[in-house]
Amino acid sequence: MNIFDIIEKSQNSEPLSQEEIHWLVHSFIKGELPDYQMAAWLATVYLNPLKEEQTLYLTETLLKSGHQLAWTEPTVDKHSTGGIGDKTSLIIAPLVSSLGYKVPMMAGRGLGHTGGTIDKLEAIGVRTEYSVEEFAANVTHNGTSIIGQSKDFCPADKKIYALRDATHTVANIPLICASIMSKKIAEGVSGLALDVKYGTGAFMNTLESAQTLAEKLMHIGHRNHVNTICVLSSMNQPLGRYIGNKLEILECIEIMKTPEKVYDEYRDTIVLSCALSAVMVYTLDGGSLDEAYQKCHSHLMSGQVFSHFEKMIEYQNGDLSLVAIDAKKQTLYAKADGYFRYTDTKSLGFASLMLGAGRLKKEDQLNFDVGLYCHKKMGDPVKSGDPLFDLYTCESSNIEACEKYIENSFSIEAKPTEDKLIHSILSYQNGSITPLQIENL
Ligand code: URA
Repeated sequence: MNIFDIIEKSQNSEPLSQEEIHWLVHSFIKGELPDYQMAAWLATVYLNPLKEEQTLYLTETLLKSGHQLAWTEPTVDKHSTGGIGDKTSLIIAPLVSSLGYKVPMMAGRGLGHTGGTIDKLEAIGVRTEYSVEEFAANVTHNGTSIIGQSKDFCPADKKIYALRDATHTVANIPLICASIMSKKIAEGVSGLALDVKYGTGAFMNTLESAQTLAEKLMHIGHRNHVNTICVLSSMNQPLGRYIGNKLEILECIEIMKTPEKVYDEYRDTIVLSCALSAVMVYTLDGGSLDEAYQKCHSHLMSGQVFSHFEKMIEYQNGDLSLVAIDAKKQTLYAKADGYFRYTDTKSLGFASLMLGAGRLKKEDQLNFDVGLYCHKKMGDPVKSGDPLFDLYTCESSNIEACEKYIENSFSIEAKPTEDKLIHSILSYQNGSITPLQIENL
């Protein structure tokens, strides 16, 4: 086999065999296939997407590049297709595990214009690479553990993920399916809640493409005996207020510690975290999704989740005192009256990247302290002179580029625009899609 034949077949949209996909992935992880040739293949399949059968082969190859866990009791997890200010995993893992469920969670680093849970945890010194035995022991001891891909778990996804990030080849349904589902199947979970994002800040810009992605993710889940339910949620505005690694942890800590006090400020982060937690509980227990939501919501609102978060962080060598932000703060103000509208949320991801919160190259070092605070939500009234965004910057931040991206991300309009946080919840039963609902959401 050789790479030219494989790239040519993909250029001509011809299917690759399971052996060819295996050869491609394994040559890459062994270091025999250089980055530039894998990047050429990724760019090809980005434009000529893999068909269903090859997506299944790729998922299986990524999965089998490492170990797969098996549990003696049902376990459950969640994953997001990627968003701006998307920090719910940090709340959900301690929330659901402290209700008595086991939550082994394999997450990723920042991808494209979106942030990643692993970068956020490393911002406060959390260890994110563990052997199979250590990861299982963490989950048994704490009820949860969040780790990244490693030499033991999905090493092929780890390497390909980093290359997709740096080559702008993320927003592709088969590649996203294989990347997410290989990690989730490797965890050995029986239930899975997927947060499938749509809108201007998501990899799927339209609701239709997000629905297609959701169907394909659920299909792979069910073929692998993972009860997978998708929550289609809006990324037409950032989630919550903060964007940036430590800043997002700060928002989660405030929510878990003093939920009543910050409810209005972070309402969307709270509601989405509870909805995804409820779906996780429902994938294992069935029953009433409304009741599962009430249970998760009142647990979070009790303020008890914080101590579980603290335990999880300390157990993985993290240090919560590192969350103190060491950055200069400057504010951008409104120049007109009207109603606030996010027009291009992806630009806010790039704005935060320009400050140093994300990577432009695989080798880039992040600045964990930088990022943004968004004062306005979609449809909020604005008066000239109101603060719109706080920028947390460091010496190497490109503030000019950041401000340009921010300018491109919003408009102030004559009428308010509405944005529904959760569009729908989709489950997959006997080969067909069934919508579910949580009352009043
Ligand atoms: N999350 C992943 O793990 N992989 C993707 O491709 C997108 C989001």
